Amino acid sequence: MKVTDHIKNANGNTLFSFEIVPPVKGNSIQELYDNIEPLMEFNPPFIDVTTSREEYVYVDKAGLYDKKITRMRPGTVGICASIKHKFDVDTIPHVICGGFTKAETEYMLIDCHYLGIDNVMALRGDAMKEEKYFKPTEDGNCFASELVTQIQNLNQGRYLHDDVQGEDKSDFCIGVAGYPEKHLEAPSFKSDLIRLKQKVDAGADYVVTQMFFDNQKYFQFVEAAREIGINVPIIPGIKPIAVKRHLQLLPQIFSLDLPHDLVEAVEACKNNAAVRQVGVEWAIQQSKELKAAGIPVLHYYSMGKSNNIKAIAKEVF
Ligand SMILES: Cc1cc2nc3c(=O)[nH]c(=O)nc-3n(C[C@H](O)[C@H](O)[C@H](O)COP(=O)(O)OP(=O)(O)OC[C@H]3O[C@@H](n4cnc5c(N)ncnc54)[C@H](O)[C@@H]3O)c2cc1C
Repeated sequence: MKVTDHIKNANGNTLFSFEIVPPVKGNSIQELYDNIEPLMEFNPPFIDVTTSREEYVYVDKAGLYDKKITRMRPGTVGICASIKHKFDVDTIPHVICGGFTKAETEYMLIDCHYLGIDNVMALRGDAMKEEKYFKPTEDGNCFASELVTQIQNLNQGRYLHDDVQGEDKSDFCIGVAGYPEKHLEAPSFKSDLIRLKQKVDAGADYVVTQMFFDNQKYFQFVEAAREIGINVPIIPGIKPIAVKRHLQLLPQIFSLDLPHDLVEAVEACKNNAAVRQVGVEWAIQQSKELKAAGIPVLHYYSMGKSNNIKAIAKEVF
């Protein structure tokens, strides 16, 4: 079922959903199952599965290092299919521009369509680890808005090559990313919001936000989005802080602000178990306030680990 229909059917109740990350190549999928299982009692209508772009590895060849390209966390579509089958839940593969030609993207979308996947999340992806800026892949999409257009074309039965004979159409509900504290590359909050509107105008059906730790940032973002005519659901993304290092890493990677009270509470912790507890309590407070405001879905970044997400969900749902 489409995310937008899940929201309609919830009749104003706030839904619980979460995002998982495929295992590193060579690891079993069992650990992922073991972490999803405890969260199923909170009836997630959908689970997102991220897609990681390719990266460089250096292979030692008799003392000379060979630079090779590899994808460390493959399997997004396979994982979506297996989780959908095993837990009878909708799964949402993330489709990214970086590292994929438009033709490869079309094949992935066709796989998803045949598997009965109703939703996809359309993203640009980040720069490669060694690179400072995002470089579009040759024959790939440059921005998420272009990817949304490609998916919408498929929804109209328009494939990349004009000589396609059949008439089969997909009917994907499309999610895109939004940034309450603006995307790190965007010159201003307003220009980033205008880019978000382009994605919605191209056919995105809902938005999922980057993590934020101050709900006011989310409320202001939604208000500004509504003012410029973005009328689709805006689902907040919530991440509980889990280790002290997050105090440096999260602002650095995502260009976001951490509220001073949260920073102080984390800094006062003697070990990471205490940090996890602070992170869980903060996320519970955030979630309760968002739920009380009637937000349709709360979406949690689990990184494939369920303990802290379960502790939050138990208090909120
Ligand atoms: C909910 C969520 C899930 C995510 N999942 C993944 C994942 O699975 N895999 C992954 O690799 N990454 C993921 N990301 C990270 C995401 O790929 C990065 O944040 C990326 O840097 C931007 O992606 P986007 O889709 O927002 O890009 P876009 O919407 O294309 O925007 C990227 C930047 O370009 C600007 N821009 C947009 N259009 C134009 C234009 N026409 N001209 C000039 N500038 C423009 C925007 O303002 C922004 O600064 C996720 C992010 C979120 C919030």
